Amino acid sequence: MRVLLSEQQIQNRIAELADAIEPGYRDLPFTIVGVLTGSLIFVADLVRRLEVPLRIALIQASSYRGKATSAGELHIASEILADVRGRHVLLLDDILDTGQTLKHLVQHLIGQGALSVKICVLLRKQGKQVHAVDIDFVGFEIPDEFVVGYGLDFNDEYRNLPYIGVLPKEMYE
Ligand code: 5GP
Ligand code: MG
Repeated sequence: MRVLLSEQQIQNRIAELADAIEPGYRDLPFTIVGVLTGSLIFVADLVRRLEVPLRIALIQASSYRGKATSAGELHIASEILADVRGRHVLLLDDILDTGQTLKHLVQHLIGQGALSVKICVLLRKQGKQVHAVDIDFVGFEIPDEFVVGYGLDFNDEYRNLPYIGVLPKEMYE
């Protein structure tokens, strides 16, 4: 598999993101909301770089089904989401593609009583966004290729790779 972003590149960028995020949340009731399952590893690494008091909450959203590499219907499972009323939320996701997932999640969190919702994505695919959504922090801009590793899956596999790689086309076409 071709490595797009090495383990070291990812870790260096996460340290920079933490420095950019921290000042905005000092002295505020702060909750990180990770979008399962893809953001699992990103959340774990980022929160350990943030030196401000925070809570961690999780929500599940899925828009890909099995071996498909294009988006399908969005499903949000919010039963596991902790109470975000009166909290300033930073939503963390692995990748921004069309924007459908994050657009709906922001609306959901505001509806649950969050005081503010900002977004941080590790990856943003260039030229793919069709749903208007403001992204506050971006790790890396990447070309329109299907990537796996560091939490991102294909058919629920490859999430455990410590780097981000491009899945060869012959594996899904
Ligand atoms: P959106 O709702 O922005 O179209 O899609 C976001 C979700 O689609 C991401 O959270 C991720 O689960 C999935 N996704 C989009 N592009 C890729 C990709 O290149 N690789 C993987 N593994 N998942 C992707
Ligand atoms: Mg996802």
